[in-house]
Amino acid sequence: MSWLAAAGRILFASAVALLLGWLYGYPLQALLALFVGLVGVWLYQLRKVQMWLQDPAQTPPDAYGIWGELLARMYAHQRSSEEVQLRLQEHVNYLQDSFSSMRDGVVMIDRQGAIKWLNRAAQPLLGLRYPEDTGHKLANLVRAPEFTDYFLGDDFSEPLQYVSGDDRRQHLRVEVTRFGQGERLLFVRDISEAVRLEQIRRDFVANVSHELRTPLTVISGYLDTFLATASELPQKLNKPLRQMSQQADRMENLLKDLLWLSKIENDKREEQHELVDMTGLLQEVREEFSDMHPETPIELDVRTDRQFYGNYRQLYSAVANLLSNAVKYSEPGSPVIIRWYSSANECIVEVEDHGVGIDPVHIPRLTERFYRVDDSRSSMTGGTGLGLAIVKHVVAAHGGDFRITSKPSVGSTFALIFPSGESDVG
Ligand code: ADP
Repeated sequence: MSWLAAAGRILFASAVALLLGWLYGYPLQALLALFVGLVGVWLYQLRKVQMWLQDPAQTPPDAYGIWGELLARMYAHQRSSEEVQLRLQEHVNYLQDSFSSMRDGVVMIDRQGAIKWLNRAAQPLLGLRYPEDTGHKLANLVRAPEFTDYFLGDDFSEPLQYVSGDDRRQHLRVEVTRFGQGERLLFVRDISEAVRLEQIRRDFVANVSHELRTPLTVISGYLDTFLATASELPQKLNKPLRQMSQQADRMENLLKDLLWLSKIENDKREEQHELVDMTGLLQEVREEFSDMHPETPIELDVRTDRQFYGNYRQLYSAVANLLSNAVKYSEPGSPVIIRWYSSANECIVEVEDHGVGIDPVHIPRLTERFYRVDDSRSSMTGGTGLGLAIVKHVVAAHGGDFRITSKPSVGSTFALIFPSGESDVG
C-alpha cells in the first residue's frame, strides 16, 4: 500500500467520522475519537515492529496497511544483505583457502600495521604464530632490521630480499601490495635454493675462467715467441700466427672481464668501501686514456668536490669501461666529455660521446652479458661484450642507478647515479 493510499484512507475515515458526528451533533468529538483510535492502532503496530527488530531473523509479524508493507520491505532488505554477506564470506573463505594452500607465506595486515590473518607457510618463514599473533604489529614481531625498515617505509615498488634465521642462511624475498583502505598484503618466499644455484653458477664461471687462464698463458707465450722469430719461420705461417695471437689476446681479455665480473658479484657490498676522491679518480682515468688515444680530446668537467664511500677499483673499472666504449664507438678525434656533479640527493658521473649512438630498442638490453648492438662492429672493435654488465654491477654494488641516453648518429651519454646520503662526504 502506498503512502498516498494510507493518507487517503485516513482522510476518508476522518470525513466519515465528521459526517456521523455532525449527524449526532458531536463532529469534533467524533474526529478526536477517530484519531485516538488511530494512534492506538499505530502504537500497537510500532510495538510489533520493535519486538521483531529485537530478533529480525524471525519472519515478521502480520501488520496492517502501510505497516505491513514497511515490515515486508525491511524483511526483504535484511534477507538480501544477509545473502550479500554470506556471498562475501564465501569469497573471503575461498581466498583464505587458496592462500592457505600456497607454498609462499601470505600475511594480511590492517591499516595500523597489525596482523589480521596469515597462512601456515608464513609462520616458520617470519617466525609468527596464528592465531596468537593476530592484532599485534607485524613490525614488532619480525626480528630483522632490513624487514622492519622496508615494512615501515613507504616504498614497495621493489621487493625486499634479505637473509634471515639465526644461522643467517635463509634467503627471503618479500613483496607488499596495498589494497582496500590502507590494508596491506604481504607475500614472503624462501629463495634460498635459487640463491644457492645462482652462487653455483657464479662459482662455475669464475672457476672455468680461472682454470682456462693457465693454458692460455702457455699458448700466448709460445705464440709470442714464434712471432718474435717470425723471420725464421715459413712465410705462410705469419698470418695465421698473428691471427692466433690476436684471438688469444681477446680470449685473455674475456677471461679477465669474466673474473672481474664474478669478483664484483661476490664482493660483499660496502665491505671494501673507502673514502673515494672521485675527482682524482676521473683525472687518473682520463690521463690513462689520453696516453692511449692522443687523437681523442677528453674533457673533464668537475662541478663538485664531493667524496663518497665506495670501492675505488670497481669505480675505476666502471668509468674506464665507459671511456673505452666512448672512444671505440666514435670516429677518431671525436671529443669525449666526463662530468662529475651532484644534486641534493645524487652524485653523478657522466661520460658523453658524439659517436655512432645506439638505437633506443637496444638500450634496455645493453647491460646484459654479451649483448651487442651490431656483432660485426663489436668484434672489429675487440670488445668482450661484458663492459656494460661490469658497469651495471659496480653501480648496483654502490646502491646506485645506471642511465643510458643515446641517439643514433648523434652520440650517447652514460650516467652513473649514486645516492648521496650517509655514504657521501660533502
Ligand atoms: P663491448 O665489449 O661489445 O663494447 P659492452 O658491454 O661494453 O660490450 O657494450 C655493449 C654494446 O653496447 C656494444 O657492443 C655496443 O654495441 C654498444 N655500446 C656501448 N657503448 C657504446 C657507445 N658509447 N656508443 C655506441 N654504442 C655503444
